[in-house]
Amino acid sequence: MLKHCPIDRHERVALQFSGGKDSLACLKLCEPWWSKITLVWANTGDAFPETVALVERAREKVGGFVEAVSDVIDWTSRYGWPADVLPVSASGFGRVSAGGGDGPLIAPSPACCAANIWAPMQRKTMEIGATLVIRGQKGSDRLSALVSSGDVVDGVEYWFPLEAWTDEDVFTYLGDMAPDHYESTETSLDCRHCTAYLAESAGKIAWMRDHYPDVHAEVTRRIELIESAVLAEMQVIDRALGRA
Ligand code: SF4
Repeated sequence: MLKHCPIDRHERVALQFSGGKDSLACLKLCEPWWSKITLVWANTGDAFPETVALVERAREKVGGFVEAVSDVIDWTSRYGWPADVLPVSASGFGRVSAGGGDGPLIAPSPACCAANIWAPMQRKTMEIGATLVIRGQKGSDRLSALVSSGDVVDGVEYWFPLEAWTDEDVFTYLGDMAPDHYESTETSLDCRHCTAYLAESAGKIAWMRDHYPDVHAEVTRRIELIESAVLAEMQVIDRALGRA
């Protein structure tokens, strides 16, 4: 199943683990090398209990485990709720130049992920001296990093064994190992209070309504406030174009 596996060429191997189906498939694929793999998990402080439990089980299988710790609740309270669509007037930049503002402070979702997941995860991976980084990134993913499988950046090799896989391939490979929530969600669970990545979050939001009603109520409240801020900005655009 594993073609051109580079693990044997490296002493320090990191598997960047989100607790989603793709990283779980990577873990399963790498079973013959578990003893030399260090799992790196970004703990934002706002993970679902299901994710924490899965990470706990996974860490027992491998040779090493490190947490890249951040505080996404604090970050979003200071820089804004993450969103896919962002009126400048609701952003930190907009607030500095225009002052005040009644609506919520909103931040671009990549800035939130970079500060709370990507950068801490990469820092921790480099700290442990990994020369091979394994990720569950697929070519079919809607969002992906700039590096490709096989790239070597600053002496570190990146290997994405699922690069040619589809979601269906992953589910077939995992079988009943796939976390239960995937019966109703399209994606991994990520942060409980995330208000972004809505293109793939309908299932997750509906799942939260059934399993975490308090979190669901707060997240939908925030998304509606973000929507109001976006609609207000759209009205400004309409007026400028003489449509209103
Ligand atoms: S998943 Fe959402 S809340 Fe979590 S770090 Fe990324 S944008 Fe922020």
